[in-house]
Amino acid sequence: MYAKVIVDVPANQTDKLFDYLVPEELERFISPGMRVVVPFGSRKIQGFVWEITTFTSLQKVKPITELLDPFPVLTPEMMKLAEYLANETVCFLITALQSMIPAAIRAKPKKMLTLTANKAELPPVLQAVFGKQHTLEWKDLPHEKGVLQLVKQASENGDIDIDYVVSDKTNKKIVQTVSIHPDYRGEDVQNIVGNKAKKQAAVLQWLQENAGSAAIAVKQLTKELHTTRQTVLELVRKNLLVLEEREEYRDPYQSRVFQEQERPALTTQQQHVLQPVQQAVHDKEHMTFLLRGVTGSGKTEVYLQAIEKVLAKGEEAIVLVPEISLTPQMVERFKARFGSKVAVLHSALAAGEKYDEWRKIHRKEVQVAVGARSAVFAPFEHLGLIIIDEEHEGSYKQEDHPKYHARQVAIWRGKHHNCPVMLGSATPSLESYARARKGVYKLLELKERVNNIAMPVVNIIDMREELKKGNRSVFSELLLEKLRTRIERNEQAVLFLNRRGYSTFVMCRNCGYTADCPHCEITLTYHHTKRQLKCHYCGFEEPMLQRCPDCDSEHIRFFGTGTQKVEEELTKLLPEARVIRMDVDTTKRKGSHEKLLQSFGRGEADILLGTQMIAKGLDFPKITLAGVLAADTLLHLPDFRASERTFQLLTQVSGRAGRDKLTGEVVIQTYTPDHYSIQHAKTHNYEAFTLEEMGHRKRSGYPPYYYLALLTIASEDVVQVIQTSEKIAAYLRQSLSSETKVLGPTVSPIARIKDRYRYQCMIKYRNEPNLTQTLQVVASHYQKEIASEKMFISIDMNPQMFM
Ligand code: ADP
Ligand code: ZN
Ligand code: ZN
Repeated sequence: MYAKVIVDVPANQTDKLFDYLVPEELERFISPGMRVVVPFGSRKIQGFVWEITTFTSLQKVKPITELLDPFPVLTPEMMKLAEYLANETVCFLITALQSMIPAAIRAKPKKMLTLTANKAELPPVLQAVFGKQHTLEWKDLPHEKGVLQLVKQASENGDIDIDYVVSDKTNKKIVQTVSIHPDYRGEDVQNIVGNKAKKQAAVLQWLQENAGSAAIAVKQLTKELHTTRQTVLELVRKNLLVLEEREEYRDPYQSRVFQEQERPALTTQQQHVLQPVQQAVHDKEHMTFLLRGVTGSGKTEVYLQAIEKVLAKGEEAIVLVPEISLTPQMVERFKARFGSKVAVLHSALAAGEKYDEWRKIHRKEVQVAVGARSAVFAPFEHLGLIIIDEEHEGSYKQEDHPKYHARQVAIWRGKHHNCPVMLGSATPSLESYARARKGVYKLLELKERVNNIAMPVVNIIDMREELKKGNRSVFSELLLEKLRTRIERNEQAVLFLNRRGYSTFVMCRNCGYTADCPHCEITLTYHHTKRQLKCHYCGFEEPMLQRCPDCDSEHIRFFGTGTQKVEEELTKLLPEARVIRMDVDTTKRKGSHEKLLQSFGRGEADILLGTQMIAKGLDFPKITLAGVLAADTLLHLPDFRASERTFQLLTQVSGRAGRDKLTGEVVIQTYTPDHYSIQHAKTHNYEAFTLEEMGHRKRSGYPPYYYLALLTIASEDVVQVIQTSEKIAAYLRQSLSSETKVLGPTVSPIARIKDRYRYQCMIKYRNEPNLTQTLQVVASHYQKEIASEKMFISIDMNPQMFM
C-alpha cells in the first residue's frame, strides 16, 4: 500500500504528490486527509495524505515515519477546495491547505540531539552541555564553534543521534477533576480519615454538600477551600474520591452569561426577504442571494431566522462578519439565540482557543460558526447556509497567499453542498450588485429601517468655507455646536477619522482641487524623495505643484491628521467632553477593544473617537450624532474603488446614529462637497451612487466591466526589479489576447518595503481563459531567481488593494 503525500514545503519543486510506503501496522488506520511525518531528503517533515494507492512507478519508496492523526483533519471537500484555490489564486497546494486549518495543527519539526552512548564517554564540554538531560534541542546548543565541532564528532562516532522530531502542537488542555467515589455511602468522615485529617474531612464534606456526584476541578477545589493538592490526592488514595482527567475547551466566552433573547416577530418586509432563502434551504438548492438592506433594517434578524430553519433541518450554517465588526455585540446576538451551538472564530483568539473552537466544529458539537474571513473554511459536512455580512468589505480578501476572497470560497462550498449563500450589506460591492442586476445573484431588498425609524439627517460641511471664515481647526463650527448639544442632552456621539489618512495625496485647501492622473481617473501620489506626483496604475508623473492650477492658491499641500492630535484638539475645544479614543494604539491589548466599547455603552463617555473600527456594527441607542472629520482622506486614495469605499464608509458611519427612538444626525466634513459619493451619501441613495459609479468604471475599464490581476515584483536591486518587470510585462503582452490590456510596469504606491523596491503590472481583461495558466508559467519561471536573489513576485487575482 502506498500513500501519495503533499509535503509541507511551499516550493515549486515540491508542489506535487510524493509516493511513500505505508508500513503494515498503519494500513488499517491511514486515510486521505490525515497528517503524516515523512522522510524528505535528510529531514523529516510533515505532510498530508492525498491518496492511498496500491501502485507506484518508483523503484524505491521510503516508508511513512509516523501517522499524526487518528482521524483526517481534512475532509474530502477541503481537499478539493484546496486544489481549486491553488489553481485559481496561483499558489502552491500546500499553501492553500495551510490556510484552511488552524495554526495549532501545523506542527513544526524540531531538530533533536539524543544521547546514545554513556554520558561519561563524552568530552567534558558536551557533558556540561547536556547536564542532567538525555535529549537536547539543536537550537538550545551554545552557539560556539568548538561545541558544534564536538557535536559533529560525537554524532559521527555514533555517541549522539541527531534527528528531526515533529512535535504535535495541538496540545489539548487537560484538567484533573475529582468526584466522590461511587462506593462511598456517606459514612462518618472523621471515622475514616481520622481526627488529625481535619482538612481532608472538610474537602469531603464540601463535595458532599456542593457537588453531589459531579466532578470538580482539583484546582478549583484547592482554591475554594484554601487547601493543598496533597490533601485532595490523599482522599483519592483512600478511595473516597475518584481522580479523572478531562479535556477542557478554552472558551473565551465561557465566563459570560448570555441572556436569552426573545425572538421578535418579523416585519412584513423581513418576511418577504426571508421566504425565498428558507425555500432554498428547504429545497437544498444552491443560489446566491444578495440582501441589500439599509442600516438598521434588521438584516441580522433575517440571518438569525434563516439559520433557525437550517438547524431545524439538522444542517449547519456559517456566518462571516468582518473582523472589526466581530464585536461583542454581534457575537452576543448569535450566542443569545443559539447558545452552545455556536463556535466563534476570530483572530483575537489565542492559537489554543482557535484550535478548540475548530475542533468543536470538527466533532460536530456545534452547528453554527460565526467568524471572520477564514471561518469560511469551517469543516462542516452538512452545510445548509453560508451568510456573508457586510459583503462589500475589503477584509474578505486575504492579502497573503492564497489570495482568496471569502465570497468566492463561500459560493464554491455552496455549490458543493447544494445550499444557498446569502450576501448582505447596506452598500453591496459594485461587482455583486452588477451580478444581482444581471440575475446571476438573486436580489433581496430591505428599504426601510425597522419600526419606521427615520434615516438620519446628513449635513455636509464645506471645509473650504471654514478656512475662509478663519477656522483652521479640524472641527467645523456646526460639528462643534452639535457635539456641545449632545453633552448637554446627555446623548452620545461617534467621531470618525480615517486610519489611512497618510499624507500621500495633494489637495488645495482653498478650493478642494486634487491632482488626478489624466489617464486613469485616480489620484496622483506624492513621492517625497523626488518631489514628484505619480500615477500608480500607468506610471504618469509630473513635478509637485507649487500653486493650485485651478485657483492659484498656495494652500496646496498633503493631507492627513492622526487620532491622537484630534483628541488633543477636542479636549481643548470641549474640556467638559468625556472622550474614548479607539485606534490601533488604544486597542493593542487583548480585550481592550471590548472594554472600551462596554464603557461607552454604559455611558461613561460622551464621544467615541476612532478609526475604521468604530464604523461598523455598533448598536447603541444613545448615539444621536455621527461625525466624519475628513471624508476626503478615503476619496483620494490611489485606488479605483476610492469613491465606492467613501460612499460605503459614509453610509456605515451614518448608520450608527439614531438607531433607537432618538433621531440621528450626521455631519460630514469635506473639501469636495459636490463629489457624487458624498452627495449620494447625504440622500442615502445607493442606486443613484451606483449608477454614476458604473459609468466611471465603464469608461475607464474597471470592474465590474473588466476583471483585474495585479503582479507585484520586488527586490533590493532596483535594476533587477525594473528589468524583470519589463520582461514579465512583455511576456504577458505576447501571451495574452489582444483585447487584454497590460498596464505598467510602474512603481508601486508603496515604492519600497523593507528595502525592497516594488514595481507592478496590472492586467485588465474580460475573457482570458488562459490567464491563470500564463501566470503560473511566470511564477514558476522566476522560482529560481526568487529563491536565490531575494526577489519576490506576487500575483493577485481580483486585487482589493493596490499598495
Ligand atoms: P442591520 O443588521 O440591518 O443593521 P439589525 O438586525 O441590527 O439591522 O436591526 C436593527 C435593530 O432593530 C436591532 O436593535 C434589532 O434588534 C431590531 N430589530 C430587528 N428586527 C426586528 C423586528 N422584527 N422587530 C423588532 N425589532 C427588530
Ligand atoms: Zn485651489
Ligand atoms: Zn494613470
